Amino acid sequence: MIISKAPTLTADQLAEVEAIVGEFGCKIQVIYGAHRNIYAIIGDERSETMVNRLLGLDYIDRVDRMESIYKLMDIRSDLAHHRIRIGGVELGKEPLFIAGHCTIDPRNPAAFLETAAAVKEAGAHVLRGGVWKPRTSPHSYQGSAKTMETLIEARARTGLPVVTEVMDEAQLTLALEAGVDMLQVGTRNALNYTLLSDIGRRTASSGVPVLLKRGRHMGPVDEFISAAEYIVAHGNPNVIFCPRGTMPELDGYRNHPDESITPLLKEKSWAPVVVDPSHSVGRAKYVPACALAAIAYGADGLVVECHVNPISGIGDDPKQAVTPDVLKKLIRDARALWSLRRG
Ligand code: PEP
Ligand code: MN
Repeated sequence: MIISKAPTLTADQLAEVEAIVGEFGCKIQVIYGAHRNIYAIIGDERSETMVNRLLGLDYIDRVDRMESIYKLMDIRSDLAHHRIRIGGVELGKEPLFIAGHCTIDPRNPAAFLETAAAVKEAGAHVLRGGVWKPRTSPHSYQGSAKTMETLIEARARTGLPVVTEVMDEAQLTLALEAGVDMLQVGTRNALNYTLLSDIGRRTASSGVPVLLKRGRHMGPVDEFISAAEYIVAHGNPNVIFCPRGTMPELDGYRNHPDESITPLLKEKSWAPVVVDPSHSVGRAKYVPACALAAIAYGADGLVVECHVNPISGIGDDPKQAVTPDVLKKLIRDARALWSLRRG
């Protein structure tokens, strides 16, 4: 829909607009108002070039698209009936709980194995463990491929599927060779379209679920959904949105908690939402409240950093991992709230 700066277009301007949209197989339908006209674009109006050419005309104020720029992630797409399963859970039917270390410490694999058993006992369905870590400082621990063995060993011992973050193609290759059950794209790579496309392509046949974190500098909700579209458009429909807080941070929190984005995502897209309260608030003591708020807002699950002895952990674990006891209560409370929400 085209809104002109003046109440109506002149005959020459209308002819110019019609010529542009005509190049893209569209037509203009004029809607005559009492004070101003509206110029509806009839046809497939998703072409970015067409919209940008119209916006380049100095007599045009706005061009609003009726159709979303994402075709596959749209709630109206045929994929709206698609269901994602992991850890014995069909997303949407019962809450999914993912828990484990932020980072697997290569000097203390036993702690991870202990945490793995404890999160299973607490009721988690999927075990998380950071093998490679995106760190703000190049001088901080960056992760190590060696810890992949520990992750796989923990899976063998507990029977829990495992999720880890990949940041480039080499890590993606190693993770897929190791047979990880779920891939995580972190907040820093949420807009790395090359990586998102590679992941979609390389998991097209296996359908390994992808937990896509929300970019901490992302703009409107459409930007998040469009990032997911990259994975799906390259062949893997098993994408899960993961709000994890955005910038600027709120007072003492690590980020600005964004679990409230869930109803908006659900209105526009069909993909499940699994919220990460740990990175949102960044302190273990605030995690349960944020986790329950996420469930209240309609989340399909939670991903929580958990450690048997947080203070001895590395990466984010000392400050934001909850203990297995706290996780157990959190899962119990989240299930109760879920039932309440379902009414
Ligand atoms: C993590 O999950 O440990 C992590 C680094 O997440 P994010 O990308 O959300 O910061
Ligand atoms: Mn972390």
